[in-house]
Amino acid sequence: MKKIAIIGSTGSIGRQALEVISVHPDKLKVTALAAGKNNLDEFAQQIHKYSPVAVSVPDSQSAIELKTLLKNPVKTEILIGEEGLVAVAAHDDVDLVLTAIVGFAGVKPTIAAINKGKTIALANKETLVAAGGVIMPLAKEKGAKIIPVDSEHSAIHQCLNNDRMDSLRNIWLTASGGPFRTWTKDQIDKATVKDALQHPNWSMGKKITVDSATLMNKGLEIIEARWLFDCSAQNIKVVIHPQSILHSAVEFCDGSIIGQLGLPDMRLPIHYALFYPQRVDFVDGPVLDLCKLSDLTFESPDYIRFPCLKLAHDIAAENSTLPCVLNSANEIIVGAFLDSKVSFSAIPDSLKRVLSKHRPITKPDLEDILEADRWARQEATAILKAIV
Ligand code: NDP
Repeated sequence: MKKIAIIGSTGSIGRQALEVISVHPDKLKVTALAAGKNNLDEFAQQIHKYSPVAVSVPDSQSAIELKTLLKNPVKTEILIGEEGLVAVAAHDDVDLVLTAIVGFAGVKPTIAAINKGKTIALANKETLVAAGGVIMPLAKEKGAKIIPVDSEHSAIHQCLNNDRMDSLRNIWLTASGGPFRTWTKDQIDKATVKDALQHPNWSMGKKITVDSATLMNKGLEIIEARWLFDCSAQNIKVVIHPQSILHSAVEFCDGSIIGQLGLPDMRLPIHYALFYPQRVDFVDGPVLDLCKLSDLTFESPDYIRFPCLKLAHDIAAENSTLPCVLNSANEIIVGAFLDSKVSFSAIPDSLKRVLSKHRPITKPDLEDILEADRWARQEATAILKAIV
């Protein structure tokens, strides 16, 4: 029985993980959960259904509301704030932590779980983008496995064997191209929040959906892949594949390309990560039937219409505070776009301004990263204030 903590259980990944776990009660058990304050009703239902030993909410007001929502008395310990989040991730009754929280907030609980030697099923890519240079060596030191949940990185993980790393030539990261793949630059610049939230293939949280529309998501994934697979950012290529069937591929020095295919259903990579290293029957839904496939198409990304991809690719090789600044500023600016305070074109424009003002620290430690995060949020907020 694998004991699982889900950090962000009321979000898109968190809910799908609970679906997968519910199908395998003999093999997987939820022992700890953490959520934000937006869906406390649903969180209370999850607590009743899974009876975790501990849960965490962001503040004491949310804890009071949650207690009111819990109709029957429960034995679950309710923890609060960042300390609660860290305690849930590091709980003794947990083997595997699924990091399904959104944004930089994932850094501290992930580090706490690694310090306790837990296996990390990593959905929260922002943690590796911001702090990959701290997280990966720490995981190695503590013997903590990191299994990717992002469908592309799950694909690469499945295609690679560690003993073949020295013969790896390129990683091919696939991207659907998002809702604006065929739009002109002028149309993209004027895109509304509603337009940006219409992802063609995936149903996800709002922040990652906007990141998919700017292609920042693919940029963040380049940085995530660079750390996860210990490869040069130069050897990570992006290819647009609108059908989202080939989830990514690896190319070896002898010219062989090995790819992983599947339906665009996040329960598949979640299932893989939760059961790894075992392969367990996926009975939760349909799987890919190759006879039913028609066109699989591929095209080059357009760095002019999607400048966020270029911004991220240009700094992906850095082991400095720049990727953290890119990530944290992006969180603030995307938040302002989602609140309809700035235009879609303000996302790359404001990001460029924040990045150009930053004085990067190389080989940052955790304190440097926390400071860069604070600085980037403050700087991005100031830049946005000047344009709204
Ligand atoms: P959502 O916005 O749907 O969910 C985020 C979750 O985090 C919610 O449960 C939210 O709670 C919770 N949360 C937010 N703030 C806090 C906090 N301070 N403390 C505890 N919990 C908090 O995001 P997604 O599920 O879409 O994405 C999660 C991560 O997975 C992201 O890093 C994303 O990039 C990555 N990912 C997502 C994919 C997808 O298909 N969705 C695919 C690949 C990667 P609440 O909203 O209830 O307040």
